[in-house]
Amino acid sequence: MKDIKFIFVAGGVMSGVGKGVAVASIAKILQARGLETTAVKIDPYVNVDAGTMNPTEHGEVFVLDDGMECDQDMGNYERFLGRSLSSKNYMTTGSIYLDVINRERNLDYGGRCVEVVPQIPLFIIEKIKNAAKENRAKVVIVEIGGTVGEYQNILFLEAVRMLKIKQPDDVALVLVSMLPVLEAGGTELKTKPTQYAVRTLNAAGLQPDIILARGSVPVDDSRKEKLALNCNLRREDIISAPNVKNIYEIPLNFEKDRLSDLILKKLKLKARKKDFGEWKKFIHKSNNPTKKVKIGIVGKYFNSGDFVLTDSYLSVLEAIKHAAWSLRVDPEITWLSAENYENDLSALEELKNFNGIIIPGGFGKRGVEGKISVIRFARENNIPFLGLCYGLQLAVIEFARNVCGLKGAHTTEVDPGTPKPVICTMPDQLVNIKEKKMGGSMRLGAYHCRLNPQSKSYSLYASKLISERHRHRYEVNNNYRLRLEKNGMLLAGVNPQRQLVEVIELPNHKFFVATQFHPEFKSRPLSPHPLFIGLIKAAIASKI
Ligand code: GLN
Repeated sequence: MKDIKFIFVAGGVMSGVGKGVAVASIAKILQARGLETTAVKIDPYVNVDAGTMNPTEHGEVFVLDDGMECDQDMGNYERFLGRSLSSKNYMTTGSIYLDVINRERNLDYGGRCVEVVPQIPLFIIEKIKNAAKENRAKVVIVEIGGTVGEYQNILFLEAVRMLKIKQPDDVALVLVSMLPVLEAGGTELKTKPTQYAVRTLNAAGLQPDIILARGSVPVDDSRKEKLALNCNLRREDIISAPNVKNIYEIPLNFEKDRLSDLILKKLKLKARKKDFGEWKKFIHKSNNPTKKVKIGIVGKYFNSGDFVLTDSYLSVLEAIKHAAWSLRVDPEITWLSAENYENDLSALEELKNFNGIIIPGGFGKRGVEGKISVIRFARENNIPFLGLCYGLQLAVIEFARNVCGLKGAHTTEVDPGTPKPVICTMPDQLVNIKEKKMGGSMRLGAYHCRLNPQSKSYSLYASKLISERHRHRYEVNNNYRLRLEKNGMLLAGVNPQRQLVEVIELPNHKFFVATQFHPEFKSRPLSPHPLFIGLIKAAIASKI
């Protein structure tokens, strides 16, 4: 345990400056230097996991193989590292307190007084060490949620302080801070807010070893000098982190300022190699597309006043990019609000301007009829279509109503009294709903799916048995399976243990595939997801 190295990453000045991507990028560059690396996120919320958070407030809920519902940054870690992580890699204030209280209830503290300090920070350190052990990591990078100076994350910083006292050579602290520019179009980055952030860290007994200086433009030498002098650092400890169009370029940008060398030196680590070959190839492809495809995403979690909150569908967006770039095309993505198609069917005509349409996951009634109209239009007009989770359920409803003639077919999620419950809950999940146990009560995490060898999905995966991640409460009702099949729907994938429908296809369509699982969670830059490859290939072939 002694030789594990810890890199803590805290945020200064304001939130939303890309701490998660910075953590993922640090993990990537150390991995490229031949070190076993993992990443951990500590979120300041009292929510025990991210499952109960609204996507328009918090962004996408990401799901791990073991069913952990967590922050979308975990998706960034997995994508950059090309590895699957576990629930050991994620904790919230709520989950930490819950575990400590459970220990206390079990008399695990042997009758001693259990106090916030030191028990909470010590428990955090223990959990980080366990995550490192589980991942057999030599280096663990820990993202401290929130911003330095707020009350919420003070106990996390206390954990850093305690660990650093015990193992000074094994701990490095990185501050990701924002250098604002005052005038519109100006380029002078202001350093003072970062200086205050460092003072705040100093007051918590901590001194950053490295500052990642975020800004709209690169940090010039004189600004680096100024920051160094005022923040007790050397000029080379300030890394320039300007805005980029493509987040996957960030590890390479960090390396321009020799970040991996700097970290290795601080932590007295020896690197074995420097291998960015595959990553550079991927970046090259992403920057040199030969044509464009237009993809429409029909959803509802992106309207907040004038803002488009595309974070709610982050993994879908990344999965599209991975697949498109690998095929040398540039995906032009348009966010389409499902509600636009509810009362105005003529609005559907605009869908003919897209090479492909995706209906991602969702919950509840709002926008459902609009999505069903979109699915019908895509089916009838042979527009390549990929449905994800709710996207599958609504495609089944559309098919049941308009092809099988099952009038009023619906999901019991929206219409509990529907005469034709083609989508409903399995009896074992009904208990949770009745008792209002909503947190963590869905079908979550990785499940197997057996693919029909006649299906498109099978030829795309080139495998009979696959494993994909789930997050839903409702399922295709097995009582209607025969009826759907008789009318031409291929139930292309089924879960062998519980006989649940996992993939549907329409064989007479260019590309009409929908999944009960979320394939987007397992797409990685260096291994794009087969189903997204299928959609983009069909989109390339479809003329508009
Ligand atoms: N609302 C649906 C369910 O709970 C689908 C969920 C989703 O799309 N993730 O089953």
